[in-house]
Amino acid sequence: MAWDFETEPEFQEKLDWMDEFVREEVEPLDLLFRGKSDVVFDMKNELVVKLLAPLKQEVKKRDLWACHLTPDLGGGGYGQVKLALMNEILGRSMFASRVFGCQAPDTGNAELIAHYGNDSQKDKYLKPLLEGEIVSCFSMTEPAGGSDPKTFTCKAWREGDEYVIEGEKWFASNAKYAEFLLVVVVTDPEVPIYKGASILLVPKDTPGMEFVRNVGLAGERIGHGAHAYLRFNKARVPVENCIGGEGQGFVAAQTRLGGGRIHHAMRTVATLKKAFDMMCERALSRFTQGSLLAEKQLVQQMIGDSYTEILQFRLHVMYAAWLIDKHKKYNREVRKEIAATKVATGHIMKSVIYRALHLHGALGVSNELPLAGMWNQVGIMATVDGPSEVHSISVAKQVLRDYEPSPGLFPTAHLLPKIEAARDKYAEYLTEENMHWIANS
Ligand SMILES: Cc1cc2nc3c(=O)[nH]c(=O)nc-3n(C[C@H](O)[C@H](O)[C@H](O)COP(=O)(O)OP(=O)(O)OC[C@H]3O[C@@H](n4cnc5c(N)ncnc54)[C@H](O)[C@@H]3O)c2cc1C
Repeated sequence: MAWDFETEPEFQEKLDWMDEFVREEVEPLDLLFRGKSDVVFDMKNELVVKLLAPLKQEVKKRDLWACHLTPDLGGGGYGQVKLALMNEILGRSMFASRVFGCQAPDTGNAELIAHYGNDSQKDKYLKPLLEGEIVSCFSMTEPAGGSDPKTFTCKAWREGDEYVIEGEKWFASNAKYAEFLLVVVVTDPEVPIYKGASILLVPKDTPGMEFVRNVGLAGERIGHGAHAYLRFNKARVPVENCIGGEGQGFVAAQTRLGGGRIHHAMRTVATLKKAFDMMCERALSRFTQGSLLAEKQLVQQMIGDSYTEILQFRLHVMYAAWLIDKHKKYNREVRKEIAATKVATGHIMKSVIYRALHLHGALGVSNELPLAGMWNQVGIMATVDGPSEVHSISVAKQVLRDYEPSPGLFPTAHLLPKIEAARDKYAEYLTEENMHWIANS
């Protein structure tokens, strides 16, 4: 019997260590740099580098560094189920993924270069990326459309042994800190985009790559964000910088995006648990209108619903992780479940974080609790790596492939022919007396 919801004791020990380490050593960094989230990506910031170095060392000593990677790439090869349990801890802190060497988008970018890069690219970019010494950027979205790649226009064409890039990109996270960018470009406009796009590795400071501006998120000062609006004015890169082959951009990109999406969902479990713990503590602490909040049935419903929704979401994420480990590739079944958890991520954050925030009244929306910051994440989680609607559509399409239309005018579940068939099946028992009893009892 293989359905097992327990964690083996040796791995539980690792999780317990991570839990304490993140709480005692890493989460305080979040407090120190509150409101400066992009500092996590600034590898030139001496203070951050100095603070992170001993923590990374400790993680490496315990064989927990880059836990998403296979051993040949320097990771622990833990697989996605264990990674899910780890991410439930790491998701509590904005610094934790960096300290443990599994920070998006570097995780996916490292996989792309590991699979498709040449030796010199691996030396120059993969090694320092895996060591956490540099950061990278994945740039696909364009200002005229993110959800629908068919609207992409940023293009590249070959001239001699170079690609020339022209067009714009939008919301390229951490581009200003990145040593290199992986940019999705149209290399063949004559075929559908899924066969006509390629990924080009663009080193930082490439002539012709212009930062139109850096876009910030809510709460950040205008012009001070980490999400770049980029313009490529005939920027040139060598042909060997085409990662995964010309026209293969989407095949390669889907591999990294699949992993990225489920990792977001795993870390969301951590955020939800944090909000839920706060909700329960508040319910037991706040006295109003003659009783504790915890004694009011409407509040009990909020707690009960949140508990159930988090458990369902967590099990779904674990199931998707288990499927990836089982199939070892992003096949149709895996992609369906990842898309479903991606949709669920936005929904559950909206319901649970809102309840937790609301139960804290004014304090909940203030900048003295983490809840308003979590609320900012709701829209982000529902949008980043493609909006919920697009993933819902993809789930529905995958689901419907397993169904067929009913052969006749009425649905196959139509009761009249079924009753007829049941009567035929048991005809020998259906005496007049029995029929009378069934009809009248
Ligand atoms: C914090 C953050 C970081 C990001 N980092 C990166 C990055 O590093 N690299 C990168 O390339 N991109 C990045 N993005 C961009 C992200 O991938 C896009 O925002 C996303 O794909 C949606 O594209 P869009 O913003 O252009 O929205 P649009 O495509 O304009 O969609 C807007 C809305 O329209 C609705 N919609 C869209 N399609 C459908 C449909 N088929 N049916 C019904 N409704 C629909 C949805 O409500 C959707 O939210 C980031 C975004 C955020 C918020």
